[in-house]
Amino acid sequence: MAYESVNPFNGTTVKTFVELTDAQLETKIATAATCYEKWKKTSYKERAVIMAKAAEIIHADVDRFAKHATIEMGKLINESRGEVTFSANILAYYAKNSERFLAPVKLHPTHGEAHMESSPIGVIFGVEPWNFPYYQLARVAGPHMMAGNTLLIKHAGCVPQCAIEFEKLWIEAGAPEGLYTNLLISHDQSDKVIDDPRVKGVALTGSVAAGRSISGRAGKNLKVSSMELGGADAFIVLEDADLEKTIPWAVWGRMYNAGQTCCASKRFIVVDEIADRFIDQFKTALEALKPGDPMDEKTTHGPLSTESALLQLVQQVENAVKHGAKVLLGGKRIERPGSFMEATILTDVEPENPAFRDEFFGPVAMFFRVKDEEAAIALANDSDFGLGGSVFTEDLERGKRVATAVETGMMFINNIDWSDAELPFGGIKDSGYGRELGNMGIQEFVNKKLVRTHDMVAPLV
Ligand code: NAP
Repeated sequence: MAYESVNPFNGTTVKTFVELTDAQLETKIATAATCYEKWKKTSYKERAVIMAKAAEIIHADVDRFAKHATIEMGKLINESRGEVTFSANILAYYAKNSERFLAPVKLHPTHGEAHMESSPIGVIFGVEPWNFPYYQLARVAGPHMMAGNTLLIKHAGCVPQCAIEFEKLWIEAGAPEGLYTNLLISHDQSDKVIDDPRVKGVALTGSVAAGRSISGRAGKNLKVSSMELGGADAFIVLEDADLEKTIPWAVWGRMYNAGQTCCASKRFIVVDEIADRFIDQFKTALEALKPGDPMDEKTTHGPLSTESALLQLVQQVENAVKHGAKVLLGGKRIERPGSFMEATILTDVEPENPAFRDEFFGPVAMFFRVKDEEAAIALANDSDFGLGGSVFTEDLERGKRVATAVETGMMFINNIDWSDAELPFGGIKDSGYGRELGNMGIQEFVNKKLVRTHDMVAPLV
């Protein structure tokens, strides 16, 4: 069964869903395409009414949405509530700012007058992951529907109730049929959607493997795409860092969402002078976390999203150890019902170890000791990924210097305050291309049309 709600806290199957038939999929694509013909002609004001209404509905009943995330993928209930509220804020942000972001831009050619105008391009296909089952949807729905496009969404197999709840939201907000459509489809059907000439763009957030497959398919069809993929973000601690502020960020950076965040801190790179103090305090703080029911507000350590995610992570740790890594903390599943992984610290991960270039999608921190700032930057850059990263130092200028030198799409100084509706999110290298959120996010799937006026006689041939 590809679409299944299974509670990872206790392994109970909550609900199963049947995939669409090809005929049902065809009807949904056709409806989205028909809707586009009308939606593209609506004003920003009309679009904003629906967008703002959706935000209002979410704000009025956060728990209605949050509980599905906690039950389906194990997110701590307060984290689910935070995600749901933030998703509503993203929709409200695009309701308010999209017209300004897509306003015509005057150019200054040598002769005549010119401007660029932005227009929608059609039906956009989004493929989204389970780790932020609403925020990921809001990141595409807000900008791309406000731009005048319509959306077909394939959500991850383990969060069908979140996917369906978010689709219902748009009907309740007064959206026309076909504006936002959830598709319970297989990977093969997903390929057919990408090939379909009525679909004009593809947005994926997911793993590198999915990125290669989906961007390849989009490329073959000459369709524009954006890829938000994995990461192995560095958490750099310089010798002048204030550990009282740094340790809580280290814990949060690795353990928030049970460590299943693309831009989570995954490689802790610490300058030798402060490394012993850092690792002692980090280990103590991780040991204090309490596994339990994610529905209980007092729980600080939730399960992973699925049993298979847990088995894969345990296997990755065992493989790292087989290749020379040492386990300073944890390393195993927690002996209790549910898909829980111990908070884990790995040391001695050498460049020859496959783990050195891996993404650990769960509560597993790799710890590296380096000589100085220069060595920290070099190690941070020795990665196939380039999503985000952070640096901790009491010298802000030094922090900015390191931020500039690290090759990623995002850097945070003395914080890991990752996401804000206003700020572009995305990476380079194997972390993908394109940006979501902010003004940049809405520019990904629009036609940038040049219009020039020049009263001149045609040159002679
Ligand atoms: P995943 O396996 O790639 O799944 C993500 C989505 O892609 C799911 O909807 C999945 O559907 C679909 N999918 C995968 N392969 C596909 C294919 N060949 N054809 C069509 N659809 C396909 O990723 P995951 O492991 O669940 O999610 C975690 C990954 O996402 C991590 O690497 C994480 O870093 C990354 N991520 C990146 C960002 C970012 O903004 N950069 C944000 C969040 C997560 P099924 O569930 O049906 O397989």
